[in-house]
Amino acid sequence: MACIFCRIVAGEIPAEVVLREPDVVAFLDIQPLADGHVVVVPRAHVALLEELEPAAAEALFRAVVRLARPVREALGAAGTTIGVNNGEATGQTIPHVHVHIVPRREGDGAGSVHTIFPRGARRPLGEVGEAIRRAAGGLT
Ligand SMILES: [Zn+2]
Repeated sequence: MACIFCRIVAGEIPAEVVLREPDVVAFLDIQPLADGHVVVVPRAHVALLEELEPAAAEALFRAVVRLARPVREALGAAGTTIGVNNGEATGQTIPHVHVHIVPRREGDGAGSVHTIFPRGARRPLGEVGEAIRRAAGGLT
């Protein structure tokens, strides 16, 4: 088992675990962006969010919601940035779905999620919306 997150889930590698549930484990990132930076992972090894079974996805996001307030309060933070790098092209370095919860403070020097993009959108919203609805099988 080469995946580091699978090995943490299995208890083969030590981690500062903050939540252990039947389908989800959460632990402190070993290279934290801020004190209290938590990584929430499904026990199931899948690379992409959209590869999760619905029940695993529900368990994952229930755990994220459950942890958001305690992480913020335990660190005395003003808020949290919650994010997923979904795919190698996004900077996902470990191909096992994980949700970051990063405590934030006023003036901490980090930007919003919007600051990571160079404003590259060019196509009309209606055209893009139609393409996504079509790919999703006719969402309305
Ligand atoms: Zn894994």
